[in-house]
Amino acid sequence: MEYNWDKSKIETLKKEYINLSRNTEGLLEEDLVEIKDKLSLIQEMEDIYHEKDIFSFDDYPTYVDKTEFLPKSTLADFEKIPNIIKKWVRNSVYIFQNFRMSAENINVSELNLTNEELIAMSHDFFKWLPNKKYVSLVDKYLSKEEGILRIQNNETLNYFIGSTYPFYFPYYQPFYLIERENTINDFCTLNHEIAHGIYMSSDTNLSLNNHSRYLFELEGYHFDFLSRMFLKEKNIVSSRTLEILEYYEFLSAVETSTSFYVLSLAIFLFNSQKEIRIEEVNQQLIKNLFPLQIDEDTLCEYLLEDPQDLVTYTLSFLANLDLEKLYHLDKEFSFHEFEAIRYNKTNNLEKNLTEHSITFMQDGYQNLQEKVKKLSLIKD
Ligand SMILES: [Zn+2]
Repeated sequence: MEYNWDKSKIETLKKEYINLSRNTEGLLEEDLVEIKDKLSLIQEMEDIYHEKDIFSFDDYPTYVDKTEFLPKSTLADFEKIPNIIKKWVRNSVYIFQNFRMSAENINVSELNLTNEELIAMSHDFFKWLPNKKYVSLVDKYLSKEEGILRIQNNETLNYFIGSTYPFYFPYYQPFYLIERENTINDFCTLNHEIAHGIYMSSDTNLSLNNHSRYLFELEGYHFDFLSRMFLKEKNIVSSRTLEILEYYEFLSAVETSTSFYVLSLAIFLFNSQKEIRIEEVNQQLIKNLFPLQIDEDTLCEYLLEDPQDLVTYTLSFLANLDLEKLYHLDKEFSFHEFEAIRYNKTNNLEKNLTEHSITFMQDGYQNLQEKVKKLSLIKD
């Protein structure tokens, strides 16, 4: 394989974290959770390296009493999300639901780029950004010799298209996995993941209770958007291709927000009646004018989702829509605002967003409404 992880780097990391897990005296509960979490990430990386199937159903969740559906962890994670964030996300769902899918058979056309060509394009992209300070860092992250970037064809493991594995001990080190689908989307995915590695470096010691964790996906959406703007400016792909990329990104945001809605509906029913009946979930969906009816299996799938992830993706998507709008007025300033939000580690999320040009909370999700309107018109 051309681009692959340096096996010895993973082995060193494993030794470091195993040592940490053996000397737990004086460590906080959340440090222990973090160490355990990183050890399972290292295990996952080893399995990917050896091309083993990484998904097994060994650790099936424990369910809360009196309902066969709701995992305990889902309920606990849901309760941890601040009410204001839940409210922002829930209110946006009603607007997402105005989206009417008008095209079903559109695909991004194939594009045969070698890994080298892909990497070279990504180099150009980072040089093109308003902030040049990441160029040398990105050079390092993308180099074959560094051994932290693995590129494979997505025929091998068709689960995701890109992942970033950040480690903070003994020093900061991200690893990347890119699954190529041989379209221009590979370029967006690569930039998206590299951006995670850049901005996650500032997340050291960020407590799981810190509200800024709900913006973890902001750089993902923002760099997907910037990648499209780069392709447009350089005339590398057709405007139709860019439209399709935007369309698919939006479809996944619609799905995420729907998942959160059904999940919160089910938790509401559980909290008021201590059980979740599928008939009642469907009644509530009709009552709230959702064009959706589900069966028990689908409900179970929704209840196995991580509510914190769903909120993170939706909130980051909404904030990025406001940044997209700002970009068209002032590129430098919108990038500045993006970085200010992402590097802000205070626990006042509302203040962080309002002070940095994010307006969806006050303007009735204006940019989301526009996006819904625009993308509902796309044709096959
Ligand atoms: Zn991401």
